[in-house]
Parts: sequence; C-alpha cells; structure tokens
Amino acid sequence: MIKAGKAIWTKEAQIALEESKKYAERVEQIAFQNTLKVLEAFRQHQVSEVHFSTTTGYGYSDMGREKLDQVWATVFGAEAALVRHQFVSGTHALSTALFGSLRPGDILLSVTGTPYDTMQTVIGYSSPSVGSLREWGVGYEEIPLTAEGDFEWDLIGDALARDQKPRMVLIQRSRGYSNRKALTVSQIGDLCEFIHRHSPDTICFVDNCYGEFVDLIEPTQVGADLMAGSLIKNPGGGLAPTGGYVCGRADLVEAASYAMTAPGLGNEMGSSNLEQRLYFQGLFQAPHVVSQAIQSGIFASVLFQKAGFLVDPLPEEVRSDIIQSIFLEGPQKVIAFCQGLQAYSPINSHVMPIPSGLPGYSDEVIMAAGTFIQGASIEISADAPMREPYSVFLQGGVVFSHSVWALLSALERVRGDVGNSRNSVVK
Ligand SMILES: *Cc1c(COP(=O)(O)O)cnc(C)c1O
Repeated sequence: MIKAGKAIWTKEAQIALEESKKYAERVEQIAFQNTLKVLEAFRQHQVSEVHFSTTTGYGYSDMGREKLDQVWATVFGAEAALVRHQFVSGTHALSTALFGSLRPGDILLSVTGTPYDTMQTVIGYSSPSVGSLREWGVGYEEIPLTAEGDFEWDLIGDALARDQKPRMVLIQRSRGYSNRKALTVSQIGDLCEFIHRHSPDTICFVDNCYGEFVDLIEPTQVGADLMAGSLIKNPGGGLAPTGGYVCGRADLVEAASYAMTAPGLGNEMGSSNLEQRLYFQGLFQAPHVVSQAIQSGIFASVLFQKAGFLVDPLPEEVRSDIIQSIFLEGPQKVIAFCQGLQAYSPINSHVMPIPSGLPGYSDEVIMAAGTFIQGASIEISADAPMREPYSVFLQGGVVFSHSVWALLSALERVRGDVGNSRNSVVK
C-alpha cells in the first residue's frame, strides 16, 4: 500500500466500512434483479457483434442504433426509445422531449417545484432565454413540494380541473442540487395515476436523471408517459462516452425524434460514429455500476455522520437517486472536501479545484471531477454552490473501492481544513 494511503486509512475508516456493508445488502439485491432484467432484454432482442459496428453519413438502416432503441425500450418497460450519442447532454434529451410534445398555447406544469438549473433556461423560467419554450409561447406554471417533500395534491387537482388543462406535467425524480428527497418510483406512480384520473390527456413527463436502476422498476412502468435522462449518468454504466435518451409512449417518442432531427426524418437517420458496443456494454453494466455508486453514497453518509456532520440521506435510508448531500458548515470545509476528492481521482489528481462563476448560477460553484469522461457524474464527483447551508452534493462511484479512498482523502482534508481558496492561494 502506498504511503499516502496508509496515512488516511484509519480505525474509523474500518468501522465505517463495516457499518456501510450492513446497508449494502439491499442495494446488491436490486442490482441482482436489474442485471437479470437487462440480460433478458439482450436475450430477447438477440444482441450480437454486428450491432457494434459504426456507420457513416445518413445512417439509414443502422442496425446497432435500431437494436439499442429496442433493447432500451424493453429494459425501461416503454413502447419506444430514442438513445443517441447525438444528444449532447441530459438537458438536450429533456429539452428535445419537451419541444417534441409542446405547442404554442400549451401549459407545462412542474409539480416538483423549481426545476434543475439548466432546465430553467430551456423553459425560460425567470427570463425569456433565446429559443426557450417561453419564447415559443408555451406557458409555465409550478407547484412546489410540501416541506415534507410530498405533493400538493389539492393544488395539483385544482390545476387539472381548469378548462385549460396543462398539456404536460414535469416531474423531477432526483433532488438535483436542492435539499429535498428524491421521489420514489412508487410516489411517481401514485402521482401519474392521480394526474391521468383528473386529466387523461395530460402527459406525465419524468426527468429521470440520476434515478435509473436505483429501484427495481422505472417511472415508465408505473404510468409515466415520457421520460428522459443522460448517458453519462446511470444508464451509460460509466462506458457511454456521451449522449442521452428519451423513452415512453411511441407517439411521444416519435414527436421527440422530429424535434431531435427534423420533421419527416425522425429516428430513421443519425449514423453511429462511435462504436455502439460502449452503449450496449454500458447498459449491461449499469445495474452493477449504479450499485457501486449507491454504496459509495452510503459509505460517505456513514463516514461523515460519524465525523460529526449532518448528512442526507442517512445511511439507513432507502434511496431513489445516487446523490449524497453532506453539510460541511462553512466554505473552507467545502473547498477542502472537493480538493481532497480530486486529489484521489484517477484523472487530474494534480489539479486543484477552486470556486468560480458558472453561466446560469448566481453563486460561485466548486466541482471535483477527476473523471475519465468529462463531467461524467456516474464517476465519483462532487459539486457545491458556495452558499448556505454549505452542502456538497456527492454522486457516482464506478468502483466502490476507489470511492472509499477518495472519501477518506476528502475527510482528511476537511479535518485539517487544508483547502486552498483562491484568496488563500493569492495570499
Ligand atoms: C444532470 C441532470 C440534468 C441534465 O444535466 P446535463 O448536465 O445536461 O446532463 C437534468 N436534471 C437533473 C435532475 C439532473 O440531475
């Protein structure tokens, strides 16, 4: 063992590791079942090596692309899927799903409060951003969650009872970077049932980022009409080098395909310039990789709780996304955490993250992301806005045993408060 490793491996690390194993059992059971679910889809669709090859140009009759869509739809219990490396990010896939189904005069209603930062720009949330839904005449309304993280059933019922019913309801499963709980799939199921009972034509759309394979079933299996997410998060299994997906009802996925390429072209074009194996193999490995990420979150929760910090979720809590919040009480400790995590990352371990401004964020943000794939948050990484309550959002962890080392390094720096802010570097 290397010297630095010895120094951060403590008795309390051993205890935290033992304790977190208690909670791992449930996570491993889910991975066990989900692996079978994915395997059965591969068997049913007879995936073979020919589906891995690349194509060029228009990409007509691209066998790999078509097969991947079919396998994906089966895994997610959806009628159809659109899985593409041409999606530049999760936001792009989500935005495409919205623009595919919404028309001028329609109303989009969020029932999970303020959406994820990048989605606000797509919506034209606080200002009419160029190209936003607002600019296209799509109205937006929002109902927050209760303080307990429950739905405001009465308010949602009122919105669905009006003459002009919302065309689409936006449901964000993950906490994103807010301090609320992730919605469980069963909560989403209850909500979709309620919405369809009050307004059968309203589309239930789920932002499923960070949620895939955390539970045994997915929102599209409990009534969600449409769902989208990122391939450099859970379902890419750490192998997909870029991309996003949309899946759900066939007519809505088709509408999204026209928004993605062009009316009339839809899903029948788009060549596979990247070896498709990465997407198939990534999906195949995703249940296991997600279980590694959740176990990383659980270990972090145990370790930092024992060290005296507030954590959310608690170690024993059932999870519905892969995000772990740790409340670090002040800016110096947030910086120290991110620098400690980065220092024990495989890539750019020598780089020192510092807080800085980012487009679309009002506060400075610090990020630790020593990842093989740029910005991939299925790999262990952390983000923190430099504001109260000074929580870091930890996510990912493809290799649990690596996450343990990275988190011990983060704790050591937090303890020593040895983070370097830009100011202290300048001084
Ligand atoms: C990650 C994420 C997105 C999309 O983010 P990208 O960085 O564009 O992939 C959207 N919503 C939520 C809740 C997310 O976690």
